Amino acid sequence: MRAITVHPGRSGSLSVIDVPEPVPRDDELLVEGMALGVCGTDKEIVRGEYGTPPHGRDRFVLGHESLGRVLHAPPGSDFSAGDLVVGVVRRPDPVPCGACAHDEWDMCRNGRYTERGIKELDGYGSQRWTVPAPYAVRVESHLGHAGVLLEPTSVVAKAWEQVDGIGARAWFEPERVLVTGAGPIGLLAAMIGVQRGMDVHVLDRVTDGPKPQLIADLGATYHHGTIADVARAARPDVVIEATGVGELVFDAIAETASYGIVCLTGVSPAGRRLSIDAGGLNREVVLENDAVVGSVNANLRHYRAAAGSLAAADLDWLQRLITRRVPLEQAADAFAAPGQDVKVVITLGDDA
Ligand code: BGC
Repeated sequence: MRAITVHPGRSGSLSVIDVPEPVPRDDELLVEGMALGVCGTDKEIVRGEYGTPPHGRDRFVLGHESLGRVLHAPPGSDFSAGDLVVGVVRRPDPVPCGACAHDEWDMCRNGRYTERGIKELDGYGSQRWTVPAPYAVRVESHLGHAGVLLEPTSVVAKAWEQVDGIGARAWFEPERVLVTGAGPIGLLAAMIGVQRGMDVHVLDRVTDGPKPQLIADLGATYHHGTIADVARAARPDVVIEATGVGELVFDAIAETASYGIVCLTGVSPAGRRLSIDAGGLNREVVLENDAVVGSVNANLRHYRAAAGSLAAADLDWLQRLITRRVPLEQAADAFAAPGQDVKVVITLGDDA
């Protein structure tokens, strides 16, 4: 069968090649790959800047935003042939640390976790793949290809859970959220904000392309000014930062309403220096009881919450997030300059 492979650490190594058919173990599903989402992490891996192959190998199968149809399920599992499923990205570390021992591998404390298509495990970018039944999540069949949005939605479901957990430190009834960045993570975070009945504001740089209308169609407000202007107008109780742009991150921390929560989800490149008023920022955070939290990855609880959010969302709106589909054999095209793309998806089967 065909698979999208890459040699981590080596730029330009992406190549679609023949690999052996996967053979499911007794506890595993055999899945026919339908679609694979492409995100910033995949682009970093393709550029040779991130990713670790399995021990003893230099090449692995790329891809962690999965969607497939079950071909074979272990008897007694919760799955049957024909179900649409997504595979969980992360696996607990072998020690395991306290968090992994509690199935909260997204919070792994020793860094020895593994991740499909990112860290030491083959990903989901192949015509067929296997996944242990406990690491598969069912997607409602009416979602079709939009089910590939489950993994990025799980990441924002976790971010919202972090906000709730921190908010629970005292009285907390957030009304307004500012999301910075209208990429897939920002849009899905905004979608959940709207589902929660909040007044949602989204800030991005663009003034054309699909993003402004996608935000308007959610019932949220689109902004493209400075964060200071937006924050002054919107007075956000919560900020979900989804750009990873250093300046925005610090502005977001400075501009929340008193007793605000900032959740950082954007992975930025290291080494870009900024000059900041550290004393002023500290003073602001302390005097306003602000909280800043980083959030990455997701555990099963978040995948299930995300499945609920996608099931409740407008299907046409979700489908519009997928702005480009690239067939498996042309996978490299998915990594070309983004233009006005929101989510690019590689189609793995014939039913695209
Ligand atoms: C994935 C996460 C993963 C992170 C770091 C993100 O793109 O969505 O699941 O933990 O990259 O590897």
